[in-house]
Amino acid sequence: MTQLSVIIPVFNEQANILAMYQRLQKVTEQLQVKAEYIFVNDGSRDQSAPVIKGLAGTDSNVKYIDFSRNFGHQVAVSAGLDACTGEAVVIIDADLQDPPELIVDLYKKMQEGYAVVYAKRRSRTGDGFIKKFTAKLFYRILARITNFEIPVDTGDYRIINRQVTEILKHMPEQHKYLRGQIAWVGFNQTFVEYDRQERLSGQTGYTYRKMIRFALDGITSFSRFPLKVATIAGFVVSGITFLLMIYTLYSRLILKNYEPGWASLMMTILFIGGVQLIGIGIIGEYIGRVSDNVRGRPLYIVKESNIPQQQHKFRHFNE
Ligand code: UDP
Ligand code: MG
Repeated sequence: MTQLSVIIPVFNEQANILAMYQRLQKVTEQLQVKAEYIFVNDGSRDQSAPVIKGLAGTDSNVKYIDFSRNFGHQVAVSAGLDACTGEAVVIIDADLQDPPELIVDLYKKMQEGYAVVYAKRRSRTGDGFIKKFTAKLFYRILARITNFEIPVDTGDYRIINRQVTEILKHMPEQHKYLRGQIAWVGFNQTFVEYDRQERLSGQTGYTYRKMIRFALDGITSFSRFPLKVATIAGFVVSGITFLLMIYTLYSRLILKNYEPGWASLMMTILFIGGVQLIGIGIIGEYIGRVSDNVRGRPLYIVKESNIPQQQHKFRHFNE
């Protein structure tokens, strides 16, 4: 029986995989557990796939899932969750920003009776100022507008037990915000602190575009606050408009004031137009995600895997 599964999403990490694997091995030796390492290759354009397959050829505990294209970090982790069999499951980045040695602490803490132990960043040496600042701001805004607690300053680096893993597998949302889903599940959750390192080699796979989309996924999955803002803005603007209407009638009929008033007219039209467009945009963010979920497409497509269950997922397409 597998005691520990380690899920490692990989996007262009060819120079990090081997070091990752070696450090993970030391950790599982130290813990004396039967472990499996699930590398999910998320459409890497470098030599990541052959490197992983090479490892799998020498160690039967190395499992791989090779996606047909880049589906994104959260989806890669979800595929690992679908495939893993361990009693305890670790999610960790492949770039060694999350030190694998911390798994020892996470695992031991879990033995004290916790369902989830997440790794909280005490410091982030690796990342630039803008990334750190936007991340800090985002986590705090999200914490304010959700009505349950999503821990701040944590990534996906954490250990979860089998029960939570099974529950996550039954949350089939297309737009995953796993750290939110895990917090939402509940049970006993705690954290250990660590210092986030610089990535060993290569470049971040999270472009600003991906980061913004991920932030919007987090907000729309766990909060209706933006919709409320649209509604409130609507009421406020309507209120102002109504007062202006009364004033307009008053100046036209009582004061007999016939001044043209082009500027005020333009400002009102532009202002109301702007508020309406923002409102439509906010609704669009939600509706777009609803339609993605209604389509019911599979979350990811596997090209190749040494896990039988993953190989056979799309068996009927091969016939
Ligand atoms: N990753 C992925 N798919 C992507 C982008 C990233 O699987 O589209 C992986 C990446 O290989 C790494 C983890 O997700 O293991 C975190 O990504 P990255 O280090 O690029 O993000 P950052 O640490 O800069 O936020
Ligand atoms: Mg990283």
